[in-house]
Amino acid sequence: MKPTFIPFARPDYTEAEAQAVADAVRGGWTTSGPRVAEFESKFASYVGAKHALAVSSCTAGLHLALSALGVGPGDEVITTPLTFCATVNAILQTGATPVLVDVGEDLNVCPQEIKTALTRRTKAILPVHIGGLPCDMDAIWDLARRHRLYVVEDAAHAAGAGVSSNRIGAGPSDAVAFSFYATKNLSTGEGGMVTTGDQELAERMRILALHGISRDAWKRRNDQDSWFYEVVAEGYKYNLSDILAALGIVQLSRLEKMNRRRREIAARYTEIFSGIPGIEPAPEIAGRTHAWQLYILRLRPEILGVSRSEFIRAMRAQGVECSVHFIPIPLHPYYADKLEFRHPLTRALTEYERIVSLPLYSGLTDAEVEQVIAAVQETASVHAG
Ligand SMILES: *Cc1c(COP(=O)(O)O)cnc(C)c1O
Repeated sequence: MKPTFIPFARPDYTEAEAQAVADAVRGGWTTSGPRVAEFESKFASYVGAKHALAVSSCTAGLHLALSALGVGPGDEVITTPLTFCATVNAILQTGATPVLVDVGEDLNVCPQEIKTALTRRTKAILPVHIGGLPCDMDAIWDLARRHRLYVVEDAAHAAGAGVSSNRIGAGPSDAVAFSFYATKNLSTGEGGMVTTGDQELAERMRILALHGISRDAWKRRNDQDSWFYEVVAEGYKYNLSDILAALGIVQLSRLEKMNRRRREIAARYTEIFSGIPGIEPAPEIAGRTHAWQLYILRLRPEILGVSRSEFIRAMRAQGVECSVHFIPIPLHPYYADKLEFRHPLTRALTEYERIVSLPLYSGLTDAEVEQVIAAVQETASVHAG
C-alpha cells in the first residue's frame, strides 16, 4: 500500500451531480426557481419538517431565523463556546448578546449549565450538534418550554442525525439551520436550509430571505404584471441559486448512503482506538443518531507524551491531515475583547487542548482509512514508548 496524502475533507460528488448542475445551467433559470422548490420539499420530507427554506448558508439561516423570531438588542441567546464563529456572529448580527455556557462530557452544550445562565433577558437557546452528535434536546426543549424561550438549532453538522426516532430538523425547535458547505455531509459548495414547523415563521423567513419582497420572481413569472413586487420588510439576500439546489437534490438522494459510509468508518476508528492507551474514541450516546460529520478523538497527553499540536504534526508527516473543532470562542481576540464571559467554560477550554478531528468522509477508501489508523497507532506508540 503506497501512502498518499489524505486531506482532512473532500466532497463526494458523482457524475449525477455534474449532470444536474449542467442541466440547471442549460435550463436557463439559475436563481431560486423550480429546483430550489424541489430541494426544499424533498429536504422537508427527509427530515420530517413541515417547512424548509433553502438559504445561501447555515450562517445566513441562523441569522434569518433569529431575526424572524424578533431576537435583537437587549436579548440574550445562550450557546456553546465550542463552535464555529458563525454561531456567535449570527447572534451578534441581530444585536443580541451571546451568553456562553460550558459543554458536557459529550462536548455539546450542557443543559444544567444553560439553566444556571437564564436571566430575564434570555430569549433563545442555540444548541450546536458538535460533529453530528445530537445535543440532549429533550432537556433543552424542556427548559425552553418552562421558560418560554425560542430554540434555534445550529445543525451544520447534523444532516441525517436524530434523537430517538426523529431526525434533527423535525421539531419541536422553532427553527433548525443546516449547512451545505463544501466539507459537510450534504454539500453544495455553499448553501444551507432552515426548517420549521411554524407556518407563520416560515413565511416571515421567506420574505426576509429575499430583500423583504412579498413574492419572488419564480412565483411571479406567469403573472400578467410579472414586473410588480412589493417590499414589506427590511430583508436580506439569503436565497439559494437553482444551480446549487440541483446539486443539493442529488446529494440529498445519496445522503443516507454517504452517512452509512461515514458511520462505518467511525465504527472502525472506534474499534481500533478503544484499544490504544492515551487515545479516547469519539463519544456516542444511545438513542441519538450520530451524523458523523466529524470524528473528534481526545488525547491523553500525559500518557502519550505528546501535545495535541505535536500529534497533528506527526500525523501530517505520515500523510494525514487533521484539524481541530473548535478553537473555543473566548480564545479568538475579537470575542475576547467584545464579549463578557459570565460563566465558567472550564471543560470547553480544557478539552480544547486535547481534541483532534481525523479525516472522515464517504469518499475515503478502505486503504485510506487504514492509513489514518496506522498513522494514529504509529504516533501513539512512538511517543508513548
Ligand atoms: C460550517 C458551520 C457553520 C457555518 O455554515 P455555513 O453554511 O458555512 O454558513 C455554522 N456552524 C457550525 C458549527 C459549522 O461547522
